[in-house]
Amino acid sequence: MRLLEYQAMKFFGEYSIPAPGQVLVEKEEDLEKVSLPFPVVLKAQVAVGGRGKAGGVQLASNEEELREKARQMFQMQIKGIPVRKILVVEAQKVEKEFYLSFLLDRKHMLLFLASPSGGVDIEEVAARNPELIYQRKIDTWRGFSPFEGKIAAKFLGLSGELISQFSRIAFNLFRLLREKDMQLAEINPLALTPQGLVALDGKLIFDDNAYFRHPEMPPDESLTELEKEAKEVGVAYVEMDGDVAVIGCGAGLVLASLDLVNHLGARPANFLDLGGGASSEMVKRGMEIVLRNPRVKSIFMNIFAGITRCDEIARGIVDFAPKIPISVRMTGTNEEEGIRILKEAGYEAFSSMEEAAEQAVLLRGKGGN
Ligand code: GDP
Ligand code: MN
Repeated sequence: MRLLEYQAMKFFGEYSIPAPGQVLVEKEEDLEKVSLPFPVVLKAQVAVGGRGKAGGVQLASNEEELREKARQMFQMQIKGIPVRKILVVEAQKVEKEFYLSFLLDRKHMLLFLASPSGGVDIEEVAARNPELIYQRKIDTWRGFSPFEGKIAAKFLGLSGELISQFSRIAFNLFRLLREKDMQLAEINPLALTPQGLVALDGKLIFDDNAYFRHPEMPPDESLTELEKEAKEVGVAYVEMDGDVAVIGCGAGLVLASLDLVNHLGARPANFLDLGGGASSEMVKRGMEIVLRNPRVKSIFMNIFAGITRCDEIARGIVDFAPKIPISVRMTGTNEEEGIRILKEAGYEAFSSMEEAAEQAVLLRGKGGN
């Protein structure tokens, strides 16, 4: 999960990483709570990069401007995401912008990155001026030492007290990544201001597999209600905007099924992966979730059975008896038995993926959820 900036800033506070004074605003009335000195910066809380260029970061020099810009920002969509929260931040005098991050990386395990060319996407710097990126593999057992931060600080051209300031911030950011199970901890820009170094923007990506040991971690705000429920049930579900519900076993197979539905000129309503070896109980829970989406008009279920058993899946479907048309493709373990059970109960069942998908697309007209 990618945390929103205001959530990242809370962790920065906990880890003594300096950041400007700020107030979170969820509706226009909340602006009355804002007692920061002007000018302030309004920042749309959406989990995408490049908000600045998309109008999601704006300066307000007085109360009237703050009100007006907040009103506009609450009506904006940034890269397709509606703005529900705004972080109002005390504006800083920025002399220079740096980049700083720690990230898990398959090749290096744990990487420390810093650059004097902050404020822009690091991918852009890597493409145009790779020599401006300081990169060091961190020993996962030994951890990160402040002296490694000092070496990077010199690379960035910092001197005097700023060297130890930078190294302290890097060290604390590293502790945050380790202790909170983040896959990425990034400050961009880390700004040089008259008060020293300040984190002006924060990006944290939490490893969702570690939720069980972090009760303090906020829920993912970008999930829809259904996605949250699916998470609790334990199925991998992503809501989409079409009307053909797609259920399968194995993420690759489900992705191929989504493509096929698109190829046939229809739009999938969701991604749902039951995983391998699904029981009839899981099948029922999966159908329950997809049918909660009112847009769904038919179901395309795609089962390639290895450890999964087609008869088990078929029993789940017959037991659940979905109220809208369903077309099933089953092949593999106990295929004949599975198809027999479904056909006997009056359901469409095929061993070919294309036929089953075509049928699901056709059946849309005959259902309504
Ligand atoms: P992003 O575009 O989503 O990465 O949002 P950022 O929070 O990084 O803001 C984009 C840019 O706005 C920063 O790189 C800064 O250049 C600028 N910015 C943000 N806050 C301030 C501020 O308080 N003072 C100044 N001078 N610039 C700011
Ligand atoms: Mn940024």
